[in-house]
Amino acid sequence: MPGGHRDILIVGAGATGLTAALELARRGYRPRIIDSDPGPVPVVESRALGINARTLTLLSPSRVSDAILQESYRVDRFRARSGERVLFELDPGRVAGKFHAIQILAQGHTERLLLGKLSDYEVEPEWQTVLERVEGSMEKPHVVLRRPDGSAEELEPDILIGADGAHSAVRKAAQLGFPGEALESSFYLADYRYPEPIDPHYVEIDLFNPGMIGRLPVSSDTVRYLSTLPDFERKIRHPVAGGEAVWVSNFRIHFRHVDRMSVGNVFLAGDAAHIHSPAGARGMNLGIEDACWLAYLISEGRGREYSGRRIPAVKTVLKQTYALTSLVTMRNPVVTGLRNVLSPIAVRIPFVANRLLRGIAGYDTPPPPWIDGAQ
Ligand SMILES: Cc1cc2nc3c(=O)[nH]c(=O)nc-3n(C[C@H](O)[C@H](O)[C@H](O)COP(=O)(O)OP(=O)(O)OC[C@H]3O[C@@H](n4cnc5c(N)ncnc54)[C@H](O)[C@@H]3O)c2cc1C
Repeated sequence: MPGGHRDILIVGAGATGLTAALELARRGYRPRIIDSDPGPVPVVESRALGINARTLTLLSPSRVSDAILQESYRVDRFRARSGERVLFELDPGRVAGKFHAIQILAQGHTERLLLGKLSDYEVEPEWQTVLERVEGSMEKPHVVLRRPDGSAEELEPDILIGADGAHSAVRKAAQLGFPGEALESSFYLADYRYPEPIDPHYVEIDLFNPGMIGRLPVSSDTVRYLSTLPDFERKIRHPVAGGEAVWVSNFRIHFRHVDRMSVGNVFLAGDAAHIHSPAGARGMNLGIEDACWLAYLISEGRGREYSGRRIPAVKTVLKQTYALTSLVTMRNPVVTGLRNVLSPIAVRIPFVANRLLRGIAGYDTPPPPWIDGAQ
């Protein structure tokens, strides 16, 4: 059991924390994983839908990818339109590789597949268990947990992993700032379930002047609409009549990341370390990638390299999502007019289309050296 004697505490059993636990468990560790929630996120409130080829590569040694491929839908087309005019279409199948560039599966399902594999290693999250405080040196942190029965537990793990989301208590305890910016406008989301099957294989964005509505499949009968317009539900082009909103939400978009992803033996991964817009479907995928790199480096005794290796990847992804978000949130009618003329020309340039699609596949960050043939 290489290094399996080390006490590892993972805070947060979202996609990032579960992946960290699984990747450590399959290397012989027995991490403890806690979460303040009573269980995994309800499937109907899934935020992430897109799973990219890089994630499928990373989750292939644990065979979670096989399970994802059985349940998910391939995205075969991206389409941008302005009114009745199709500006351009892109085919993600153009990205060469073992896996298709992007598949669709609701985050709640993905988390349940990770949980299932984790239980094969007899590691189960401790639900309703809250990280209250982290004190002392970050080399040997002193952690206080609150258990479901209200009692406190104190421990000093060798390694503390903060996968505890955007408001991370671990990040605050490690005194790592979260610099960046929030976009002014809010974003609105509505998932509609239809009485008949819908086409789950394409993603579309409808550009208005100003504003946009994105259409993403959630499953074979449910579509997600994402918009910058508060009254967007009036403008939805429903595929069939009789749809019913099953989840409605709104949120602000932030672009933030820590300057360092570790201090001593305290490590951050996923939304605890970086947040950005959902454009490009990168957030959960990037968190899963952090978790896989962290488990690999810990098992190699090279945890000190983690931050230096991940920060450039995080910056690449934030830059890409910022650019995509700027394209769909611009308000000046002259600039949006120019975008509508220039974007169809730009995506006909193979270099531009390939770069965009490789980003969506997650191939713009360094490949995992522990997986043979990974790109
Ligand atoms: C509308 C929308 C669409 C998105 N679409 C995509 C997409 O298509 N693809 C994609 O890759 N990403 C997408 N994302 C981003 C993605 O949802 C997040 O990046 C992802 O959920 C981050 O996972 P995480 O495990 O790092 O954090 P979280 O999912 O936030 O999990 C953190 C966990 O930590 C627990 N926790 C917090 N504090 C404590 C504490 N003190 N003690 C114990 N437990 C604690 C919480 O209960 C939670 O379960 C989208 C986001 C939004 C808002």
